[in-house]
Formats: sequence, C-alpha cells, structure tokens
Amino acid sequence: MKNFLKPLLLPICALAATAVTARAQAPVPSPVSASSSLASAPTPGAANNNTTAPLPPPPTPSVPADGGTTPAPSKAVWSEVRVNGPYIAMTFDDGPSAALTPGLLDLLKQKGVHVTFFVLGSLAKDHPEILRRAVAEGHEIANHSWDHPNLGKMPDESVSSQLNRTKDIITAATGKPCDLLRPPYGSMTALQRHWFHDQLGYKIILWSVDPLDWKDHNPSLITRRLVDGARPGSIMLAHDIHKTTIEAMPAVLDELLAKGFKFVTVSELLAMELPPDPKKASSSSPSRPPRPSLAPGVPATINGSVEPMPGPTPALPAAAPSPSATPKRN
Ligand SMILES: [Zn+2]
Repeated sequence: MKNFLKPLLLPICALAATAVTARAQAPVPSPVSASSSLASAPTPGAANNNTTAPLPPPPTPSVPADGGTTPAPSKAVWSEVRVNGPYIAMTFDDGPSAALTPGLLDLLKQKGVHVTFFVLGSLAKDHPEILRRAVAEGHEIANHSWDHPNLGKMPDESVSSQLNRTKDIITAATGKPCDLLRPPYGSMTALQRHWFHDQLGYKIILWSVDPLDWKDHNPSLITRRLVDGARPGSIMLAHDIHKTTIEAMPAVLDELLAKGFKFVTVSELLAMELPPDPKKASSSSPSRPPRPSLAPGVPATINGSVEPMPGPTPALPAAAPSPSATPKRN
C-alpha cells in the first residue's frame, strides 16, 4: 500500500504547501478559521499519518486528472482567493431551511447580494423550489454532502453516495451540475482530497472567516466576527439554519457594503484569482501577525484539515432556535 500511496503523496503535499503559501499572503484575523487551522497543520509527513482514512479507490490512482503531463498538480482547495479588488464570497451551509432560507433570499435580493449555498441533499430533495429560486436570483448552489457526515471516516461507497446523490438533487432542481464541494466540517483525508478534485472534478471550498454562528447564537457577535474578519478574497462562512445568523445578516451586509466590499459567488471569486505573488509581498491586504490559535474545544484534525468536528465538543445551547434537529457545524 505504501508503494501505491507514494505517487499520490507528493502532489498532495505540494497542494498543501501551496495552499498555506497562498493563505500566508493574505492572512485573515478571524478568531477561528479554516485557514488558521490549515496554515499550522499540514506538514510534509501529515498525509502519511493518516490513520482515520478509508482509502478511496480512484479508478486511476497513480495518474492525476491532468494525465500527469503538467509539472505540478492543479490547486484543489481554497480557503480564500487572491484577487485584485474588494471581492468576497458569502457562503451559507447546511440548508436549505424552509423556515429561514426564503427570508434570507428576500434580504439578499433587497441588498443586491449574490451568495453561495452549500446545501445538504437530504434537505434539498424536499425543497427544490428553494434551490430553483436561489439560482434564478443569481446565487450559486454547491454540494455539502447528503446529510452531513464526517466523510473522512466513511467507507468509499458511502462517500460516493453522499456526493453523488446530492449532486443529482442539485442538478435536477437547478438544471445545472455543481462543481463546488465543501466537505462537512472541512473534513477529508488526503486521498479523498485527491479523489474529489482529480477524479470527481470538484473544487474544494473551505473558508477563511468563521463567525462560529453554530455555537454562539448572538447576532451582534456574529456580525462583528464576519465584518471584522472580511478581507479582499475572503470566503465567509455562515449557516442558514440558525435564526440568529439570519438576524445578523442585515447588519453584516450593510456594514460590509458600506466598507466597499462587493459580494460575488464562490465561482465568480475563483474566476478572479490572481497567480501567486512571486515576491510574496503584501498586496491589497495589510500585513498582519499570525492568527491566534484555535479556541478550546473547537479543533479536530484530519490530514491537515482542521475544523469543528462532531464528538465531545461543547453542545449547542439548549435554547438554540434552529429548525434543524441536530446541531451541525460547517
Ligand atoms: Zn455544514
């Protein structure tokens, strides 16, 4: 198996290093973010220490999607995007919520803001009309699995089912397939990262600004974290299944618009991506100190992807007014 892995690990490690480099150019000072976690996690040996990873069976595991003809693997994972201009992508996970998403769409329409929804297939199947409306109003729909498992701990067949069933629901509802994937909790093994991108054709989208809205049901706090964390190229995380998140959005949008930020979908943001700065000099973002470490109880690591994970982490407040029966994060 080690011989089998070797040709994969080098490009994977190169990907991780590339991602860290890119993030280091425009750090985002959010209290907890995927970027901060990732920036400290991947090491050249990280992929070798993959004890949680089921081994996905890519059809041609030793041959990258580009046929192996290019000298370096293409980028697979984005937590933020290097852009020239005040563009940011707001993203909403874990919906659609019949109770909350339509109201959010009303607000987004009123503000002229386009966002990206990372939906769960299990919810989207019952509300294709919400997906259709979102697309009709300029938003983007993307894959967040069927019912929010930790993909990094699932058998390959189950992972395939999670992604394919959701993709089918999205395609049926919107008429267009999606090529953006956000694994629940940002969790995936190194081999899955390769599989999702090179074999299944997904761009894997994490985030750089995390308001922790799944944990802190406080609109003011959510607003501050999002507004203060935003930088050009930021990918902003939120969840349209929490009432307090929706309540925060008018102020979030107003304040970010007032600061001159322009909202685009994730695909639009990716289309603006600049090549890596060879000088690694700070461009539009001021130079900032390293990110603070993760908050207690939040991190969990799977192959360099560090996110809030299910398990013995603090539970949501009992009074959490979420329409979702199960607390979910990212
Ligand atoms: Zn999620």
